[in-house]
Amino acid sequence: MSLSPASLSSPAFSNSADLVQRSLKSVWHPCTQMQHHESMPLIAVSRGEGAWLYDPEGRRYLDAISSWWVNLFGHTNPRINKAVKAQIDNLEHAMLAGFTHASVVELSEVLSDLTGNVLGHVFYASDGASAVEIALKMSFHFWKNSGQTNKQEFICIKGGYHGETIGALSVTDVSIFKSAYAELIKNTHVVMSPDYRKSAELGLDTQEAVALRAAQEIETLLKARSQNICAVILEPLVQCAGGMAMHHPEYLRRIRTLCDRYGVHLIADEIAVGCGRTGTFFAFEQANCWPDFVCLSKGISGGYLPLSLVMTRDDIYRAFYDSSVSKAFLHSHSYTGNPLACSAAVETLAIFREEQILKANTALSHTITKALAPFKSDLRVRHFRNQGMIWAFDAVIEDPVLRDSFSRRFFAKALEHELLLRPIGTTVYFMPPYILNDQEVQHLSERTQAVFDEVMKA
Ligand SMILES: *Cc1c(COP(=O)(O)O)cnc(C)c1O
Repeated sequence: MSLSPASLSSPAFSNSADLVQRSLKSVWHPCTQMQHHESMPLIAVSRGEGAWLYDPEGRRYLDAISSWWVNLFGHTNPRINKAVKAQIDNLEHAMLAGFTHASVVELSEVLSDLTGNVLGHVFYASDGASAVEIALKMSFHFWKNSGQTNKQEFICIKGGYHGETIGALSVTDVSIFKSAYAELIKNTHVVMSPDYRKSAELGLDTQEAVALRAAQEIETLLKARSQNICAVILEPLVQCAGGMAMHHPEYLRRIRTLCDRYGVHLIADEIAVGCGRTGTFFAFEQANCWPDFVCLSKGISGGYLPLSLVMTRDDIYRAFYDSSVSKAFLHSHSYTGNPLACSAAVETLAIFREEQILKANTALSHTITKALAPFKSDLRVRHFRNQGMIWAFDAVIEDPVLRDSFSRRFFAKALEHELLLRPIGTTVYFMPPYILNDQEVQHLSERTQAVFDEVMKA
């Protein structure tokens, strides 16, 4: 083996074709059947600016899904760039056990403050799945430390998604990610989704009625088994990866009440729906109460660096506070509390405050809803829906083969129209960064209509 530059075939990438060809040889891409790239494009990205990604030839793509739901204020945002550059010249990283630093403290204080200090203790990791693992372990360990050793089970929601490590998969209910690993995964209680699209099928009139019916199912389970159950884990307001299934906030209030009544924790996975995505900073705020744990990741660093965290209450923190090491929460990751990621997050939260983003988003959301109105009345579309800065609709396709390939065909066609969109099955959704101008909204709406027309003609 030689590490000399001579071992590199050609260190500089001359163009997209070169980069793509070499990527397919050496990079195993995530969430991809690699063989599909024989017919599906792989896009080389060389630059990002605002809502746009550019390839080496200068072709551009409007990033209408915030690069997997992480980017909030545009690519190469000047404010976040500056903050990360300042941090990198001071301290790039230091371990967080036995040490601390300004960025992680500032971030924890600001986040705690956003919950009125109800969730005043913040534990860090790097990716969303790890945050979910942490919340599950913390809940289980809390009950163990409190002498309730029978509590070993979790309740999750049908169609819920919480990440793809083995523990997170155990509370995930999306079969394409889970079924191959069934033998490795601990069983969990899976209960009805409060997805309001089901109202007709259930013979219920309102979104709220679906929420109450779904909450009833959890109550039945808790009545029978609460002695064995650690926590309920859910995605507040929108089950994202499961297909942008939305529900009424009354569901969250009900589950909060039930969890209190039966002595079970409530874990809010706000990895996708947090950071203003649903209209409030935390989605759970729309239920006027707090969960016991909140998981954040994705948007928290503005889409810059891997960062995730779990926020929890003082009484939970207290159950670990002891002279005995075995009662402590010994979980750790090498990059826990990475200063660069924390500095990006601190700046992201400063942008929220100083530029009054939540208020601005109310207007932007209204503008985008208006621009997407044609889909609402389109006969090839069902369940046009919106929550804050998320929009989705379901394409009606009878042919199972066309239905199966819809997402890939749509993605490829959208790229031809300078648009980055990746439907989930037959659900087309938009999760744009919070910075689209009128022209970009128009681009999004008009190009999506053109793409949809072309793909539905097939
Ligand atoms: C993306 C996501 C996760 C997993 O986060 P990763 O960083 O991809 O591990 C967990 N829960 C929800 C709700 C998500 O959307």
